[in-house]
Amino acid sequence: MITGKNYLGNVLSSTNAVTFKTFNPRTNLENEIVYSEASDIEIEKAVELASQAFKIFKSISGVKKSEFLNEIANEIEALGDDLLQVYCSESGLTKNRALNERSRTIFQLRTFADLVKEGSWVGATIESADLNRQPIPKVDLRKMLVPLGPVVVFGASNFPLAYSTAGGDTAAALAAGCPVIVKSHPMQTGTGELVASAIINAASTTGMPNGVFSNLNSRGIEVGIKLVKHPQVKAVGFTGSIGGGRALYDIASQRHEPIPVFAEMGSINPVVILPEAIKQKGNEWAKTYASSITLGSGQFCTNPGLLFGVKGDDLSNFVQVLSEEIVKIEPTCMLHPKIVGAYESGKAKIQDQPGVHTVGSFDKNIASNYGRQTIVTVEGANFLTNATLHQEVFGPFSMVVQCENSEQLEEIIVRLEGQLTGTVLAEKGELEKYKKVVSALQNRVGRIIFNGVPTGVEVCDAMVHGGPYPASTDSRFTAVGANSIMRWVRPFSFQSWPDASLPNELKNENSLEILRYVDGKQTKDKL
Ligand code: NAP
Repeated sequence: MITGKNYLGNVLSSTNAVTFKTFNPRTNLENEIVYSEASDIEIEKAVELASQAFKIFKSISGVKKSEFLNEIANEIEALGDDLLQVYCSESGLTKNRALNERSRTIFQLRTFADLVKEGSWVGATIESADLNRQPIPKVDLRKMLVPLGPVVVFGASNFPLAYSTAGGDTAAALAAGCPVIVKSHPMQTGTGELVASAIINAASTTGMPNGVFSNLNSRGIEVGIKLVKHPQVKAVGFTGSIGGGRALYDIASQRHEPIPVFAEMGSINPVVILPEAIKQKGNEWAKTYASSITLGSGQFCTNPGLLFGVKGDDLSNFVQVLSEEIVKIEPTCMLHPKIVGAYESGKAKIQDQPGVHTVGSFDKNIASNYGRQTIVTVEGANFLTNATLHQEVFGPFSMVVQCENSEQLEEIIVRLEGQLTGTVLAEKGELEKYKKVVSALQNRVGRIIFNGVPTGVEVCDAMVHGGPYPASTDSRFTAVGANSIMRWVRPFSFQSWPDASLPNELKNENSLEILRYVDGKQTKDKL
């Protein structure tokens, strides 16, 4: 049952007079439940509980953390249709999408459960002492990864489950041994509270310290800002807009003790269509991309917002087919009137720029909060000189940039801001022929795709979901897949420490049977 209250550890609390409701974009009406925004006292309490919980949680065994993460997954499954119904009523997304996202969320939790149960992820590294070394003896040093401390997580509205309350950031931080305080998304506060209840139940069933998780409601940005400024918070995970991520990054950098903000932000995901590909398969690619641009009303961080080609009849034909195909697709409901408003104004701003032509736009009547898909074109020279054209328009929108030649294409790509993905559509021999363009693209993105679409992010060890700024604030890390745990840890060394007092991961015996580096060799052997 949804209460509208905040979870301060395992206690439900609502002391603030400030309240708000969520909105159903399909009915165009507010949902009924009233939510209480977290007060300053509640923020303080949640952080204090997290700091206390960290003292215990940081050293809890991988097996116990694995039980906790698996139990969260079980509890989310047990929420059943209640969760799906609230998800749909707060996002306008379909039940099918809710089911897919729930499966993904559960898969992520279980993946981290397996990772920490096995245990080798801590990167245990041992250099034995050599008392006879000349000119000075060598000391015994043992290194492993340890958790940072309480983490604040902000989720994005377009993934109410998988990038939210128990999404990738939370799962990875808990797996690392960091307590989590979620700043709940104001558009999906009910979904957030239900998932929070699953985490709280799981923490209690598996004996986790109170405060390992809290969930704070907010109708605006103030609660999040206070959390990021709090001295006991040691890291931030953010998924959302460039503006939001950058604001929090700046706040965190200005603290007396700056802390890392791992922000995964907006991206326009350039697609380069090389000349032979457009000549041989232009019509096919136009149909494929009409679907990709409109998938989920374009509300994906990997939505292809920019398509590049070299001018000529083949590119003109591609633009025509893409424009015809895109208007055949029925528009779908967007997440919230605010998102629709931002989409319409962002699109209009681009359409007003010099040299921009609208070549395809759904022009029949649509219901409130539905997204009208649109394709525009612009010359390469205009794109190069106008920074407004490089901004993300979050929704079913894409711009075709018509370049004079491959030299101009390369110049444009070199000057692109950082992106989550880049895609190359090519025929045989073209990757080699246009290797400068491909190399320039590789330099601007976290993941490069050959003959496909960027939408769809596989959750696996080889995935990189991140990229040079502003796709993310730290391109050295991925936000998706088991390696995303690396954001929430730091390396730590024990020097000449007595074996009995070392963590199990570093003891001579290796009772956990994890893979370790011992004197330069990978082994599971004991010392
Ligand atoms: P958003 O408006 O940035 O909101 C995300 C969260 O951050 C919300 O809780 C929001 O609170 C908070 N927030 C935003 N600005 C803030 C600020 N200045 N100070 C403090 N808190 C702030 O993003 P959204 O509209 O929910 O999601 C859509 C965006 O997310 C798109 O740009 C999309 O590309 C991006 N996204 C990126 C990824 C990725 O992995 N890179 C994945 C999914 C989505 P309030 O709502 O109260 O402002």
